Amino acid sequence: MEKVVIIGSGCAGLTAALYTARANLEPLVLTGIMPGGLLTTTSIVENFPGFPEGIDGYELMTRMQKQAERFGAKVKFGTVESVDLSKRPFTLVVDGDPVQTQTLIIASGAGHRHLDLESEALLEKKGVTYCATCDGALPMFRNQPLVVVGGGDSACEEATYLTRFASVVYLIHRRDTLRASKIMAERTLSNPKIKPVWDSVVTEVLDVKQDKVTGVKLKNVKTSKESTLDCAGVFVAIGHVPNTQLFKGVIDMDENGYIIPKQGSATNVPGVFVAGDCSDHVYRQAVTAAGLGCAAAIDAERYLAAMSQ
Ligand SMILES: Cc1cc2nc3c(=O)[nH]c(=O)nc-3n(C[C@H](O)[C@H](O)[C@H](O)COP(=O)(O)OP(=O)(O)OC[C@H]3O[C@@H](n4cnc5c(N)ncnc54)[C@H](O)[C@@H]3O)c2cc1C
Repeated sequence: MEKVVIIGSGCAGLTAALYTARANLEPLVLTGIMPGGLLTTTSIVENFPGFPEGIDGYELMTRMQKQAERFGAKVKFGTVESVDLSKRPFTLVVDGDPVQTQTLIIASGAGHRHLDLESEALLEKKGVTYCATCDGALPMFRNQPLVVVGGGDSACEEATYLTRFASVVYLIHRRDTLRASKIMAERTLSNPKIKPVWDSVVTEVLDVKQDKVTGVKLKNVKTSKESTLDCAGVFVAIGHVPNTQLFKGVIDMDENGYIIPKQGSATNVPGVFVAGDCSDHVYRQAVTAAGLGCAAAIDAERYLAAMSQ
């Protein structure tokens, strides 16, 4: 029987692990399929306090894990497949095995939203990507026309970043104005290397037969006119999906699946706490995720202390 189980080993999960470990609760951290979380996919993190020269994302997460382990956190490679939160202790099924715990901290993060096209899935990592910072500098994209799909701040950031490498960046948006903040939209549209393609959606990524991205098929949503655009890469930047499907119907969440804390980090189920990007659609930063992990740990510790009185 565990006192605290933490689902997720990103900034939120490992910070929660550090705090609960220092409170002698010997937390069990389940890493999921992405040990270290999203930050391991980026090379340089320049806005995490304490690293004036920046730090490699993988290195930062390795340090966070070591720091938590130093105080007794148990970090285990495993994915939670189902949960029974109807009675305490809670039961989780982790890679087929049951794990029981008195409290649970959900720090499962958020993944990228997909276009839901078969060709997109087949060409992922063969020109289709969800992260300009991670993949933009790859040789396959250099001096090539690239496509960014989306119209929000992330899409604008991705498009602007890609102009360092691409010959031209087409920004495909289904509306006729960007959703991004005014300053970001203005900066993006004034960049001579970025060409907006308005009122359009991608209907197919080409070319599955060649096993690489050679272009996209587009449809104008106003005129229904179809066209093809040559490109070497498709960067999808249409938002995120929180990894909270496991808790649907049990833990309160908004219509997009973000967990809604009730008070502090506490959820509607007593003994279950939440931290990080799976409950934060606003800030989505490493330092905010870490801060929320700290809060969840303190809340879990106080809950256990109150139970034992
Ligand atoms: C390319 C890129 C660059 C970024 N750069 C920066 C930056 O420079 N500065 C910054 O502040 N932020 C940056 N971010 C954002 C930052 O990475 C996130 O805000 C942060 O990682 C959120 O932490 P988290 O712990 O909430 O979630 P995540 O890091 O997403 O971690 C979620 C964890 O949950 C696990 N998990 C999910 N489902 C299960 C399950 N069923 N069972 C067990 N485990 C599960 C995953 O395996 C993972 O370990 C960047 C993000 C990306 C993608």
